[in-house]
Amino acid sequence: MVRLIEPQHHLGLDDYEVFTHLSTAVRDLQREARTLGPLFEGRRVWMVNSTAHGGGVAELLPPMVTLMSELGLDTRWLVLDTDDDEFFRLTKRLHNLVQGQGDPTLGDAERELYEKVNRQTADEIAEYLSPGDVLVIHDPQPMAAGAFLRQTHDVVAIWRCHIGLDEQTPETEAAWQFLCTYAEPYDHAVFSAPEYIPDCLSRKSTIIHPAIDPLSHKNRELDVHKLVGILSAAELVEPTHPTPGAEFSAPARRFQRDGTWEPATQPEDFGLLFRPIVTQISRWDRLKGYVPLLNGFAELKAGLPGDLDDDDLPQRILDLTRLVLAGPDPDSIQDDPEAQEVLGEICDAYLKLPAELQDDIAIISIPMASPKENALIVNALHRCSDIVVQNSLREGFGLTATEAMWKRLATVGTRAAGLRQQIRDGLNGYLIRDPEAPGDVADVLRMLLGDQKRREALGHSAQQRVHNDFLIFTQIRRWLELIADTVN
Ligand code: UDP
Repeated sequence: MVRLIEPQHHLGLDDYEVFTHLSTAVRDLQREARTLGPLFEGRRVWMVNSTAHGGGVAELLPPMVTLMSELGLDTRWLVLDTDDDEFFRLTKRLHNLVQGQGDPTLGDAERELYEKVNRQTADEIAEYLSPGDVLVIHDPQPMAAGAFLRQTHDVVAIWRCHIGLDEQTPETEAAWQFLCTYAEPYDHAVFSAPEYIPDCLSRKSTIIHPAIDPLSHKNRELDVHKLVGILSAAELVEPTHPTPGAEFSAPARRFQRDGTWEPATQPEDFGLLFRPIVTQISRWDRLKGYVPLLNGFAELKAGLPGDLDDDDLPQRILDLTRLVLAGPDPDSIQDDPEAQEVLGEICDAYLKLPAELQDDIAIISIPMASPKENALIVNALHRCSDIVVQNSLREGFGLTATEAMWKRLATVGTRAAGLRQQIRDGLNGYLIRDPEAPGDVADVLRMLLGDQKRREALGHSAQQRVHNDFLIFTQIRRWLELIADTVN
């Protein structure tokens, strides 16, 4: 039911400190950890979430677990390991309701199922705990387990909620009515934005922004040889000079017109390295706005020859532009039972487009068996993009946008609350007014595709923003302070 995960994160603080642009943040963090050290003695922190791969939380935890331990606070990672599909269907519903979507009817049967799995989970987590330990429970799936354990054991419990909506709707009310039952025992809660905090947690909540690891396989710099090597190994481009031993364990696959999935160079190389590329990489979730993005791209391409002012966006650039929609192989994600269905809807929408437009779009499934290969593929896909879009209808905080901004890319988000915190419209990226309006999506893409200087300037400001506010050092520092306050 719960599994201890050994985080695959092989970097220590020294590895970051050698980079001058990171060294100050690392030293500040070490200083803070030394001051707080006595409060951490003899305690362990247990991070608990629902998946080891795929999605923002699984992305955040490995560097947090490793670096917090190096800083003197022994931190471990437990993952909910149930094959109860009913449970994950329910928790996915709760996830969607917190973000304002779905059927708000939640009754006794739902509560019974939720509590049954959470009670078993709590019993298993209890085996790992010692008095004084700190539980950090991530998101709604294991929330009740944390509450049960706080009531029966001498532990401190913090709930970290990564999702939210900046308005109250019947859906969010239903979700919070369900979840608030488990709020009271918690010592503290953490959200990504103040607007997301429900009334039941308003007196004991803090804001901590999620953050990225600048040296992870997903975010580190890739020189051109490495970039091409990764794209070839994943069969995203035709290998020009095959490099022995550089194959990945599985190729990225591209959706084909006959409904099959083949290596992404089939039926032909998509031209990732030679064309203007617009990319969105996310989970296959309706709230990520994939189908509306497809429609927006179709609208962009439908701009009739002659409609365009050549100073605005030369027709030849528009003709060459291609769209990549990429996400994790849906068979590999246990806690997201809708992924397969949503990917099916995206493929159906694609098949309805005219054939010549289909040639300009690649829907790509990224293999997840190797976290390192997945991360390198995401990194390489970002780095061969001219524009990265995150067309989310709702977003708690889009790590994908942060990752693109760190890579100095022109990043386009929406006015979803999480993205609004990251991207300052026109300064370090752009925000699409209405992600479901094809004209709004097309307008932003058209303007950016036609203006390389602007894309570069946005990219530089974007990286600066991430450097200042969204790197792991700031995040870990905030967590150390919060844990010290809570155990004190
Ligand atoms: N991601 C990935 N492989 C994929 C798609 C997404 O590794 O095929 C990662 C992405 O790089 C990011 C995370 O999953 O780090 C998604 O986090 P985000 O906060 O954007 O959204 P969430 O999935 O948490 O809603």
